[in-house]
Amino acid sequence: MSGPRHDVQSPARQAGSTKERRTQVKPTMAKSGSRKKLPKEVAVINADNCTGCEACLEVCPVDCIYKVPGDTISVLQSWCEIDVERCVGCEVCVHIPTKKSDPYELTVCPWDAIEMVPTVEVAQYVAAKGGPPDYLYENWDRLVVPAQRMAELAAS
Ligand code: SF4
Ligand code: SF4
Repeated sequence: MSGPRHDVQSPARQAGSTKERRTQVKPTMAKSGSRKKLPKEVAVINADNCTGCEACLEVCPVDCIYKVPGDTISVLQSWCEIDVERCVGCEVCVHIPTKKSDPYELTVCPWDAIEMVPTVEVAQYVAAKGGPPDYLYENWDRLVVPAQRMAELAAS
């Protein structure tokens, strides 16, 4: 069975621009190899809210949260991003599991910057919230394309 496609067009395509995209020397985030089962949801960081405090980075069991390289937009505050292809959807970066009887939820991010989003919609979220427009444009192939690939796999 094949599901709906969740194409997210790059800013260049949306604008119909012929401007040549600058190449990136940064490594791609995704590691090679496929996993057996995709999570129903994965974590995405809203860069607007993130201060780069690294609290989430410390708790992720699969080390898939990264500090954004500061060389591109060094004048702005730093933030973190998630390699969605490696995220296992455990939610530990959103809240620490507690006993069911415990009324207090231990949240990790002090700025509520992390959202669990349906895997089939992850590309739209990354394209909308993964960083400033210029940053996303520069890093489209590294950030949005893998998210789109994952969304398509989840929808298939
Ligand atoms: S949901 Fe789990 S695997 Fe994904 S980024 Fe958060 S802590 Fe890491
Ligand atoms: S805990 Fe929140 S503010 Fe801190 S780096 Fe992670 S997403 Fe950003």
